[in-house]
Amino acid sequence: MVLPSVAYWRAKRNYYRMVGSTCRSCGSSFYPPVRICPRCGSRDLEATEMPQGGRIISFTTTNEVGASFRRYRPLTFGLVELDNGAVVLGQLVDFTEEELVPGARVRTVIRKLREDGTDGIIYYGFKFAPER
Ligand SMILES: [Zn+2]
Repeated sequence: MVLPSVAYWRAKRNYYRMVGSTCRSCGSSFYPPVRICPRCGSRDLEATEMPQGGRIISFTTTNEVGASFRRYRPLTFGLVELDNGAVVLGQLVDFTEEELVPGARVRTVIRKLREDGTDGIIYYGFKFAPER
């Protein structure tokens, strides 16, 4: 018998891994996972854990954010190419102005995404920090 708490912790551990998909035909990787390869059209893909390192392709900083994110302004979002070639859009955190350049190395970190004011639930997700 599996206790509910064990099942919860197993699910949680899985949740915090960045699992995407890799095409068995052409070798391309994608995050979030896809069912059909956008590069070659194959449906033969497998779930794979994404590497934690990558580099910034481009980025933008904005003050125009929804009400629940206002206290985090300004927010910087970047297109990041992971070390397996997967291109991911994500928030860039902890960068100094000098570090924030195309080509800069990043690492995947898990950070608070938002806090639900009504039920107190805190949501976590992936962001990208400088690889120092
Ligand atoms: Zn493919």
